[in-house]
Amino acid sequence: MSTFLGMPRRPPRSPYGTGNLRGERPFPEAAHDELGNGQLRHNLGRATRTIRAKRLDVTGEVPDWEALRDAGSAIKTDTMNRLPELLEQLEAKVTEHGGTVHWARDGAEANEIVARLVEATGSSEVIKVKSMATQEIGLNEHLASVGITPHETDLAELIVQLAHDKPSHILVPAIHRNRDEIRQIFLDRIPGADPELDNDPGRLAAVARAYLREKFMTTKVAVSGANFAVAETGTLAVVESEGNGRMCLTLPDTLITVMGIEKVLPRHQDLEVFLQLLPRSSTGERMNPYTSLWTGVTPGDGPQEFHLILLDNGRTAALADAVGRAALNCIRCSACLNVCPVYERTGGHAYGSTYPGPIGAVLTPQLAGMHATEGDPNSSLPYASSLCGACFDACPVKIDIPSLLVELRHQHTEQTGATPEKLAMKAAAAVMRRTRLYTGAQKAAGLGRIVADRDGTISRLPPPFTGWSDSRDTPAPPRQTFRDWYASAEGRAALRTAADEHDRPHREDER
Ligand code: SF4
Repeated sequence: MSTFLGMPRRPPRSPYGTGNLRGERPFPEAAHDELGNGQLRHNLGRATRTIRAKRLDVTGEVPDWEALRDAGSAIKTDTMNRLPELLEQLEAKVTEHGGTVHWARDGAEANEIVARLVEATGSSEVIKVKSMATQEIGLNEHLASVGITPHETDLAELIVQLAHDKPSHILVPAIHRNRDEIRQIFLDRIPGADPELDNDPGRLAAVARAYLREKFMTTKVAVSGANFAVAETGTLAVVESEGNGRMCLTLPDTLITVMGIEKVLPRHQDLEVFLQLLPRSSTGERMNPYTSLWTGVTPGDGPQEFHLILLDNGRTAALADAVGRAALNCIRCSACLNVCPVYERTGGHAYGSTYPGPIGAVLTPQLAGMHATEGDPNSSLPYASSLCGACFDACPVKIDIPSLLVELRHQHTEQTGATPEKLAMKAAAAVMRRTRLYTGAQKAAGLGRIVADRDGTISRLPPPFTGWSDSRDTPAPPRQTFRDWYASAEGRAALRTAADEHDRPHREDER
């Protein structure tokens, strides 16, 4: 088996169900449609520009920001290297403090465990804290299918849920919606919403607040994810901005937390690093407005029943692979999405996965298993990047996303054998080795000027190059090739002048 960074490449896999990790269409096809949505591009452009500026301000003011990034990276690398032992330590500590730990191999198992736990309480509804893990496994859909109503309580998640939509950003799930759309969603879906409601953000938030308050006060079971879990103490952590998380984590009788196994940290002190890195990188804030920590069950205070579901869903397989292991270091801050020129234009839906953007392009194929067949939409994700490197610069735990994407492309090419790119490169090499053939090909390419538009670009190339021109402007070939110019009197004169300029200092030295 070939290796990358000294680790074996992942074996062929996908033994388990994976949930919301597979899109219905390849990225280029889905992105093409999204690019036609002017409103989406406007919203995304404005939102990502704002978050980028805030992030730069608050990271720039930390004198040891780079040292913090190094520390975050080192802690996560250490965690991945001894994940099994840390998870067992976490299980022992949570149990010692009155919680119950469940292990779920995949999304289907996790969903069944949650549904069983909720049914055992006699409740038919749950309130939810925003959670990528539960989106990943399609928990809401599963709960609804067994007669349990989930209520999202994060404002953006609520908007997405009420609209029967899908989140398009890790941190700002409704980034693709504007105020008018939100107003209409509330009028259509929130019982008793005032028909005179306007699109003022404060008044829209007040409507959601009143609606959610009733849910907080009456629902007996909450489901959350976790940003971190501390192995040495059994402490779970959730960070959020709206206070809805604090309500869910403290008011109900039963709390069920679904957490990807990679979220564990060895020591309580490690939180010091991540509680600085995460808010500055995600919302551009110095600290999160709400940071909730809890350890098992405290008699007379908060939920009296606590269940922690440790979710694998492809993570163990990813851990065995160099690319997957690096991607598991992600703390889901979304900084890489906000700096990505591809994400900024296409939005999150084009990625077809719970995890969009640069890290989604790595993580999704790793968690779901990258299938080499061209029919698998996930196999197109590693190509959804310009490889500009902005994501690597922004990542608070220094995940080298561009290198990981290149490696995934390499693996994909190796698995699929001949690709259009490979055949094109082979053909180009054969032509370039033969001068007469090359000159002939240049002359033939010059005919492209006939089909060029007035602006000097060719809007659609013939097959097999159509895919290239579908998403790019192709410049028309110039009237004169470099070789023609080189052979012309004008070219020879220019070359003589350049040579004279180059030699002059040497001649002056000799004098
Ligand atoms: S890869 Fe890095 S920048 Fe992107 S979401 Fe994960 S931690 Fe944040």
